[in-house]
Amino acid sequence: METGPLSLIDKYNRHLNYLRISITDRCNLRCLYCTPRDGLPKLRHEDILTYEEILRLASIAVKLGVEKIRLTGGEPLVRKSFHRLLPRLTSIPGLKDISLTTNGIYLTENLGKIRSAGIRRINVSLDTLRRERYRKITGYDGFEQVREGIRLARKQGFDPIKINMVVMQGINDDEVADFARLSLDHPYHIRFIEYMPSGFDDSDVRLRHVPNSVVKERLRIVGDLNQVSGQETDGPTVRFRFEGASGEIGFISPLTHHFCQVCNRLRLTASGHLRPCLLSDQEIDLKNPMRAGASDSDLAQIFLKAVENKPRSHRLVSGHSGSLSGKMSAIGG
Ligand code: SAM
Repeated sequence: METGPLSLIDKYNRHLNYLRISITDRCNLRCLYCTPRDGLPKLRHEDILTYEEILRLASIAVKLGVEKIRLTGGEPLVRKSFHRLLPRLTSIPGLKDISLTTNGIYLTENLGKIRSAGIRRINVSLDTLRRERYRKITGYDGFEQVREGIRLARKQGFDPIKINMVVMQGINDDEVADFARLSLDHPYHIRFIEYMPSGFDDSDVRLRHVPNSVVKERLRIVGDLNQVSGQETDGPTVRFRFEGASGEIGFISPLTHHFCQVCNRLRLTASGHLRPCLLSDQEIDLKNPMRAGASDSDLAQIFLKAVENKPRSHRLVSGHSGSLSGKMSAIGG
């Protein structure tokens, strides 16, 4: 395949060097902000990319200039034999960084496999430090499992361990300082993510987004935050550190400071579609052309087309309507 290393540059001069791959649409949790309590329709097994297909598409993406891949879901750790995929992905020549986003429920038993595949960077989604609240948010009494997974990951040298908290008014926003304090003595990177309307109507709760400017203000009681200089692959995260802290604080503010101008992401859904923007419903099919016999060059052209069509910015801006169309768990965040 004849493609230069910097081909994934879009018409707004953004270098799309980061591919998020959702390896399954299945999830073992039903987080309030992500999935309705009675679940979502599931893809048929045959409609989900096989590991061979994921590897082939990932290799093409890397040849086109992708440097960083994150595996997500659904919940990546619920896909059968997911660990067989890992070493093959980590050995793609030219791939600089591979990481995993998980809800942490099955982390403890999988850490060894993740580690031996060469993955050291993990993100764990955790929205509360209180067991009963965890059950309410996720629909499952799994707080202790996640806590143990994080503790062991640290013990085994995973670094960084990012803890993603989606902040919701009246649900967990009273815990932002507690989360931030974790970064003082532990090397965790605590990341506050603004809640984005998920697109389904949960009759029990009207979830409300809290601007990250408000979160940051509330962290003043913990200490002064100093900005950490970013790296090219940081994408939307604005990073800080408390004086003398072991860990970091990061803010991801898709609504109040949308980061479209520096968005470096492409997404590959579990069903094999490329999604140039999380918040636009435009998707480009790779699976069917691939299954119909497309060559690597043909598939590379589809990647380039997706890049060409990446919108300049998304349509979800604070105060305006719009949502994730209920698909977050299939796209992978
Ligand atoms: N199961 C894995 C996990 O829990 O991390 C990976 C998939 S999950 C969809 C990926 C990320 O999307 C999580 O960090 C989650 O908090 C975030 N997310 C899902 N719905 C969201 C929403 N409505 N607003 C903001 N973040 C959301």
